[in-house]
Amino acid sequence: MGAALETDISLGSPVETLPGIGPRRAERLREAGVVTVEDLLFHVPFRYEDRSRCARIADLVPGLPATIRARILTPRLVRTRRQGFSFVQAVLDDGSGAIRAVWYNQPWLARVLQADRTGFFHGDPRVAREGHEGLGALVLQNPEIELIDGGIRAANGVEDGADNEAEDGADNGADNGAENGGEDVPVTLASQESPGEDEPLHTGRIVPIYRSLGGLSSRSLRRIIARALAALGDRIEDFLPSEIRRKLSLTWRGSAVRGIHFPPSDPAAGISFEELADRTSPFHRRLIFEEFFLMQAALVERHRLARSESRGFRYRFTQETRAKLASLLPFALTAAQKRVLREIRDDMEGTSPMNRLLQGDVGSGKTVIAALALAIAADNGLQGALMAPTELLAEQHHRHLQALLGPGGWTVLLLTSSVRGAARRRVVEALAGGETVIVIGTHALLEGSLTFSRLGLVVVDEEHRFGVAQRTLLRAKGYRPDLLLMTATPIPRSLALTLYGDLDQSVLDQMPPRRQTIKTLLRSEEHRERVYDGIRRELEDGRQAFIVYPLVEESDRGGMKAAVEMADRLQTGPFSGFRVGLLHGRMKSEERGVVMAAFAQGEIHLLVATTVVEVGIDVPNATVLVVEHPERFGLSQLHQLRGRVGRGSAKSYCILLAPEGISEESRRRLDVLVSESDGFRIAEKDLLQRGAGDLLGTRQHGLPELRIGEPVRDAVLMSLARKEAASWLERVEAGEARAPRALLERLGRGGGETS
Ligand code: ADP
Ligand code: MG
Repeated sequence: MGAALETDISLGSPVETLPGIGPRRAERLREAGVVTVEDLLFHVPFRYEDRSRCARIADLVPGLPATIRARILTPRLVRTRRQGFSFVQAVLDDGSGAIRAVWYNQPWLARVLQADRTGFFHGDPRVAREGHEGLGALVLQNPEIELIDGGIRAANGVEDGADNEAEDGADNGADNGAENGGEDVPVTLASQESPGEDEPLHTGRIVPIYRSLGGLSSRSLRRIIARALAALGDRIEDFLPSEIRRKLSLTWRGSAVRGIHFPPSDPAAGISFEELADRTSPFHRRLIFEEFFLMQAALVERHRLARSESRGFRYRFTQETRAKLASLLPFALTAAQKRVLREIRDDMEGTSPMNRLLQGDVGSGKTVIAALALAIAADNGLQGALMAPTELLAEQHHRHLQALLGPGGWTVLLLTSSVRGAARRRVVEALAGGETVIVIGTHALLEGSLTFSRLGLVVVDEEHRFGVAQRTLLRAKGYRPDLLLMTATPIPRSLALTLYGDLDQSVLDQMPPRRQTIKTLLRSEEHRERVYDGIRRELEDGRQAFIVYPLVEESDRGGMKAAVEMADRLQTGPFSGFRVGLLHGRMKSEERGVVMAAFAQGEIHLLVATTVVEVGIDVPNATVLVVEHPERFGLSQLHQLRGRVGRGSAKSYCILLAPEGISEESRRRLDVLVSESDGFRIAEKDLLQRGAGDLLGTRQHGLPELRIGEPVRDAVLMSLARKEAASWLERVEAGEARAPRALLERLGRGGGETS
């Protein structure tokens, strides 16, 4: 390890410039996504172990891992008769008592563990097996060692051995984060490589535990990271504007990076183990804030750019359009709908294209908002498109919008992959020919062969079902069309800021009147007959019901088969007096249309379906929804499903019919649904349980990934970062704040001032 090399290291240096990392390790780290020293330092501990408090040997208890500080007595290397088997043993003494320690098959330790040397030892005291000599009944097997006095020469040899790439082999077997208990126990000399002066690394402190990375064990990472920090010295530049850092009392970047790995054990530093474990320490806060700040600054910037675009014309919302729509609407809009419509109209009447996300819980009435916006676009001579994730939903929207807008003279067309022949030609020609129409469709709208000649407004329903790429594709079919994204998967605000931080947001936070709360029951298989009795009573009252089967994937034939068989069985058995229908994703569009129409008209009483009914299906007379195997669904998905009932004025029920013997955890999860009707709170609980990774991972938002922060858990910091980023960018624009060059670089904008 050349000292000359170390002094040249900066955060941007490739990891192989670090001592202890040769080409092979570097390659494996690269595969794990770690290229630079900074990447490595942002592999932060996933937990910590408090080994700062030294136990007295006299107080050791079997089975309770502890750190002791002791002197080595009578070390010796024992070679047994068994080929290649050896152990080193020593007595450790701290004045309060003594304990025997044994290290298996590491004969070289005998050179290091010299009599009278002192060190920290961390391990799990066990009661020695009978027949063993030993002091007292306890023994430490393979405890971690950290020597804290001289004897450097002997130790150097060991360290060199541990550093070279031959050690990769030993690291291979390493666990995911847990210490490699039974493995080789390399020795460390505190004075040589500690993060601070003479501080121990692996014991005698709060110790960072890492997930293994590129085949490096937690212990190796600890060593390499400590070296990297030592080599960097104070060359960790702080790029946050100092006024923000001061205002929020954020730790310097260098101290935060250092502290998150090797928190100061000195009580005077005031860092508690709990806040480290909770990731709320000042080090965590600082690094999470910085991550969020960079992300939000990029999003705010994007948003600003979008707003500064001009589409060259403004929509006009005429008295004529207003009067026509008012006469067609079968109900009065809720206050929330009026407010949201106002926001949308303001966007449309402005000069830059709309970029808006509309969030509204299941049943809050988003469709009519979309319909009104599309009608306004059409009255301005522009084409509008509404894209839905399933054919079933597109078909339903088409029916609804046609019924609502058709009488007012608007043309509403349908385009899905099931629309073929003359019907398809009609749509294709209308769109290409510049006819002012509203088209409802699925992914089929994205096909390259489809051209719009006057696309002015794009509405995406259930937008979380689509990727950003698809949204962009549809948008690209027009010249800066307005964009309205709608979702019923409520997204906690902090996450919405991450996923949709470049969009304006509207929220429908009010349900249409007379909407009943839905009574949700968790029942098990033994109640099946009684559940059927309940359904029959509703059907006899003229109501309708759904029974839904989970379909893990579209291609899952098992779930489909279950639904098909169940429909049959119910029709001939318990529901022979009623008409049972069947609906699944593999049916032809016409068949599906027939079934849906029959259900909507009340000709089918009980509809057995797969999750194709999950989104959007709207039959107000349906009052019972039974979900089979609810344990296979996510909570938000169940909430969506539940939204298929409670759409009319009658009391409705959602029955989760769980098989026998589901886990206690599943039961608790499902109980959330029983007690909670608010989609936002359910989503939040769901996200906390599953992590936001799913949602974030499926999206390509072209932003730096989050390495430490988690938007849901760290919601407060996310909102704070948003606020600070927005006001800082504003001040920079106004020339009131200076932008540190390092920050501009991180934001992908060169130039700027040096700070
Ligand atoms: P979602 O937000 O889940 O897409 P929908 O748009 O499907 O909800 O609306 C749910 C139901 O509520 C539909 O039957 C719709 O006609 C009805 N609805 C929407 N707005 C109102 C309102 N203001 N008053 C009464 N009913 C409404
Ligand atoms: Mg909907």
